[in-house]
Amino acid sequence: MKRTIYTEDHEAFRATARTWLEREVKPRLEDFIEDKGIPRDVWISAGKQDFLGLEIPAAYGGSEAGDYRFNAVLSEELSRVSAAMSSCLGIHADIVAPYLADLCTEDQKERWLPRFCTGELVTAIGMTEPSGGSDLAALKTTAVQDGDSWVVNGSKTFITNGYSADMVVVAARTTPGSGAKGITLFGIEADTPGFSRGRKLDKVGQTESDTSELFFDNVRVPAANIIGELNLGFIHMMERLPQERLGAAVSNIAHAAGIFEETLAYIKERKAFGQPVGSFQYNKFLAAELLTKLEVSQAYVDQCVLAFNAGDLTAVDAAKAKWWSAQVQNEVIDACVQLYGGYGYMNEYRVARAWRDARVTKIWAGSNEIMKELIGRDLGL
Ligand SMILES: Cc1cc2nc3c(=O)[nH]c(=O)nc-3n(C[C@H](O)[C@H](O)[C@H](O)COP(=O)(O)OP(=O)(O)OC[C@H]3O[C@@H](n4cnc5c(N)ncnc54)[C@H](O)[C@@H]3O)c2cc1C
Repeated sequence: MKRTIYTEDHEAFRATARTWLEREVKPRLEDFIEDKGIPRDVWISAGKQDFLGLEIPAAYGGSEAGDYRFNAVLSEELSRVSAAMSSCLGIHADIVAPYLADLCTEDQKERWLPRFCTGELVTAIGMTEPSGGSDLAALKTTAVQDGDSWVVNGSKTFITNGYSADMVVVAARTTPGSGAKGITLFGIEADTPGFSRGRKLDKVGQTESDTSELFFDNVRVPAANIIGELNLGFIHMMERLPQERLGAAVSNIAHAAGIFEETLAYIKERKAFGQPVGSFQYNKFLAAELLTKLEVSQAYVDQCVLAFNAGDLTAVDAAKAKWWSAQVQNEVIDACVQLYGGYGYMNEYRVARAWRDARVTKIWAGSNEIMKELIGRDLGL
């Protein structure tokens, strides 16, 4: 089905992103996978293309697009090449960016945003802790005021860009015993004494993204690094999670759609019993079902993108887009593995990697169970 949400400007931006990926990323992707990370020169190159500052005001070096469709186009193109790159660049330019652009003081914007846009300051966001991620209000990392500073102790885990980030937006408890009401966000620079990271975590998929544990051992953070309002960190996060979930949905569908296209080409070529495997009625019907699932899901996600641009995307609708797209992505890619037969299980085939890369989307950005919890609550249940 023809998509109608994009204009010529978006398609021109897509062409730029595609050319950049062909030139700068695809030839080196195997190295990124080997090294479990995206080298800094790729971030700098992305910065030069204005990919990192879409959400950032022009006064601080951003392109201030003010139109989520550009974020969506970039995410779609990244996802078609590497789901992990979509998540790494997405965490920085799509997820952390709104916290900085909306909540930072003038001084913080001047300190952080220009380098954020050039790729010299790579960022991460640390919410999840070893003791749990779904129940964010129960987080245990503490920040205790001492003069003009806050002393942070605790740890975070599963943090995307965690190993390479120069600055991490960290959620810490500033008022003990007050649940969601006592959490504050801090911008913690990686060279602050007491801050350290664990190894790059050994993941099932998305190997080229660095994911790490972070440790805070009496990290003295200046009060000037508080992002947003003291004790309102939970609200700041809740207000921005719909955008994170929308980004996840865009990426999920694009990733699966790309793999489906490749699979379709494969099953037209691959023969068994003297005919293309795609021409067996079972597989023909399967392909028809997969494409229908993708296109119907795409229509909902596109509608969410437009709703977000209009300021109308609710947390509940973003939750629907997130869980559904993750489910469809996993179903479609699993079926694609089957259609490839034994080759679908070989790591050198993109479909096999995509299958491993996709699994996490049902877990992160708020697990699918938590999404259904939000939707169920909205039903008055
Ligand atoms: C590769 C990767 C990258 C990540 N990147 C980041 C990042 O950059 N920053 C960050 O902060 N976090 C990140 N995360 C963490 C991710 O958001 C959490 O893993 C996720 O929120 C789930 O938390 P948990 O792992 O602690 O699971 P738990 O909260 O322990 O949940 C375990 C299981 O119980 C289910 N469950 C929990 N509560 C309920 C309930 N009320 N009803 C029904 N079921 C429930 C969950 O859905 C899950 O299936 C990342 C995770 C991964 C794997």
